[in-house]
Amino acid sequence: MTSRRVLLDRSSSALDIRTRVGEWIEAQVPEAWRAAAPAGRDAIRAVRSREAYDAWYPTFAESGLAVSTWPVEYGGLDLTPEQAQISEQILAPHNLGRLNPLGLNNTAPALFLYGTEAQRLRFLPPLVRNEERWCQMFSEPGAGSDLASLAMRATRDGDEWVLSGQKVWSTWAHISEFAVCLARTDPSVPKRRGITYFVVDLRVPGVEVRSLRHIGGEIDFNEVFLDDVRIPDAFRIGAENDGWRVAGATLAGERQMVSGSGSGGVDRIGGAGSARLVRLARENGRWADVRVRQELMRVYGEERIRGWTNQRVSANAKAGVHPGPAASMGKIHQGELNQRIQLLATDLLGVDAAAWPAGEDESWAASMPFEVAGMLRSRANTIEGGTSEVNRNIVGEKVLGLAREPDPYRDTPWQEVPRS
Ligand SMILES: Cc1cc2nc3c(=O)[nH]c(=O)nc-3n(C[C@H](O)[C@H](O)[C@H](O)COP(=O)(O)OP(=O)(O)OC[C@H]3O[C@@H](n4cnc5c(N)ncnc54)[C@H](O)[C@@H]3O)c2cc1C
Repeated sequence: MTSRRVLLDRSSSALDIRTRVGEWIEAQVPEAWRAAAPAGRDAIRAVRSREAYDAWYPTFAESGLAVSTWPVEYGGLDLTPEQAQISEQILAPHNLGRLNPLGLNNTAPALFLYGTEAQRLRFLPPLVRNEERWCQMFSEPGAGSDLASLAMRATRDGDEWVLSGQKVWSTWAHISEFAVCLARTDPSVPKRRGITYFVVDLRVPGVEVRSLRHIGGEIDFNEVFLDDVRIPDAFRIGAENDGWRVAGATLAGERQMVSGSGSGGVDRIGGAGSARLVRLARENGRWADVRVRQELMRVYGEERIRGWTNQRVSANAKAGVHPGPAASMGKIHQGELNQRIQLLATDLLGVDAAAWPAGEDESWAASMPFEVAGMLRSRANTIEGGTSEVNRNIVGEKVLGLAREPDPYRDTPWQEVPRS
């Protein structure tokens, strides 16, 4: 990991950072990708396939630049947030997205805040290199918005835990090596107090992953069944029965990612930004339509505001100021804005959005226009990472200080709460 690291540290000046990062780009980013960078993201995508990027990614990870504020031993460069901002400015035109977003945004915050040093050293370096991919197994068929009511059981057996139960909506579990997972370790106390946070190796006996196909035809998420899965106590993050607190770190990271201010980025939530819509309106002769112009300006303006807000939140996060419950505001706005952008894109496509020629393999999903796929994917934006309704509750209670939502079972032992 150290051999291909960029030679920067906390003593590096702004000029050192610009020079070294520039030299690294020149030496390590393939020439065709560099040449496309001035023309923007779409031009880069045209010459850079997903497979080529995946194959090249270890070079980025080993440079330390992908997580430059992280300590060197976890895969970073130990730069200050201010130094990292300079490095990010130089990297930005090359659109070098971070792989393993659930690992970076959901797992890592929990490990940083509540993991042991041994756990960080074990899990973070391969996570950064994308050698071990991560997913999140929190939601269950009977526990989504009310996550704390979850029923997966974990019982202790010597130095091990035995987990049984079902998870659902586990994004990328079918292509992940590890999952963060919440399980009930004490049913005799109120729901939030009897949960423990674990790491589950998805390759061990007793784990069954069943994929679900979504409306756009692709497979992203899964049901995961655990049947007496044994995991070592060393894979418990935080104290026994304190998992709800640890989960808070993961959920705040997730909301930040879906809001676009985390390293997942906006383009992971479906469709394209408003700049593409402007081109589409020109190409389709809809440019002169007053209604289209108004809508375009509205989403364009909001997207810029969202982008600037995300930059500020992201810079604060790199400087150690985490948004906490305020992350919910960005999450609500990004999800709802993206849905409006993708609906407008579909509208601009006209009848082509309603029917399209079948692909060679006659698969309706594979030949679906990009805009339609983006619009369908965006329907999930107001659900994933906590629904808009639930995030509005969080903002009301924790940001505005309004009265708490009533919960007659708040202090009732979990095992006594009526369940369907
Ligand atoms: C694309 C996608 C990816 C996902 N990936 C993951 C993942 O990787 N890992 C994971 O663990 N989970 C994942 N989820 C699950 C997601 O977190 C849940 O779907 C979400 O929390 C909502 O839970 P639910 O689906 O059970 O809906 P429910 O909780 O049953 O909600 C149903 C409806 O009731 C409303 N509602 C519920 N409670 C309240 C309330 N108190 N006040 C007002 N309205 C309320 C909701 O807003 C919603 O409209 C994913 C979901 C999606 C769509």
